[in-house]
Amino acid sequence: MASSEVTGGTVGSPGADGAARPGSVRLDHVTHRYGRGAEAVTAVGPVDLTVPAGEFLVLVGASGCGKSTLLRLIAGFEQPTHGSVRVSGTPPRPGTAAGVVFQQPRLFPWRTVRGNLDLALRYAGTDRSLWPQRRAELLERVGLEGTDARRTWELSGGQQQRVAIARALAAENPLLLLDEPFAALDALARERLQEDVRRVTAETGRTTVFVTHSADEAVFLASRIVVLTKRPGTVALDLPVPLPRGDGDAQELRNSADFTALRARISDCVKAAAS
Ligand code: ADP
Ligand code: MG
Repeated sequence: MASSEVTGGTVGSPGADGAARPGSVRLDHVTHRYGRGAEAVTAVGPVDLTVPAGEFLVLVGASGCGKSTLLRLIAGFEQPTHGSVRVSGTPPRPGTAAGVVFQQPRLFPWRTVRGNLDLALRYAGTDRSLWPQRRAELLERVGLEGTDARRTWELSGGQQQRVAIARALAAENPLLLLDEPFAALDALARERLQEDVRRVTAETGRTTVFVTHSADEAVFLASRIVVLTKRPGTVALDLPVPLPRGDGDAQELRNSADFTALRARISDCVKAAAS
């Protein structure tokens, strides 16, 4: 299906650096503080970060360094205390700026898989006559063909997270945000889903910002890695990942010398940045 998924209209005018292209993200001197006065906690910043359209950026950092806060700022769920956030050249509107996948799938458990996806398609404004076809495409994309009638509470954790990913893709917007989506899964399910997310984002060409505390996950998924310092999170390292991103064998990649060397480097950096 549809590499045309991301052709959605141009939002804003294309900037010289591409920071206004659909799916691009731009943070200018962003700081976020929770609470006021003596109780205030500065969670992130200042952060300057531009994510060009089509990039797979992984944010890595220790627990509590502000990763989820950064993602919520990009999704428009939070407003920065200082600085500005732009998605596709404009301030993000919550619910429409990006498809979001959280650590817990947050599905409607009493609904079927179909019911969960139909809600997302309705919210996305997809013409009702297209729902069956779109649903089939989305389920195929995440490896859940034929599960339409299953109740989501009957599914495994990995399958539920696949439904959550399909739901995020249903929105057909050019930006996908994932916050430690595989943290609760067993190692095997986690590796499978990593491989699928890598494939799906390559197929759809969406810009992706993925949060994790795992150096291994970061190196496997990313076209670029940003390591954050401890709270308030700032950029400690910003590194392109030179590993192949094609259809190559995933296990071969994970076993390669380049992969293990980069994983060790990121792991060291995350530890140093957290201390
Ligand atoms: P991470 O995702 O990297 O673990 P978070 O962005 O969730 O980090 O949190 C960063 C810091 O901000 C933490 O110290 C956390 O306790 C604090 N924090 C997060 N959300 C809130 C909130 N709603 N109110 C107050 N403090 C918060
Ligand atoms: Mg978090």
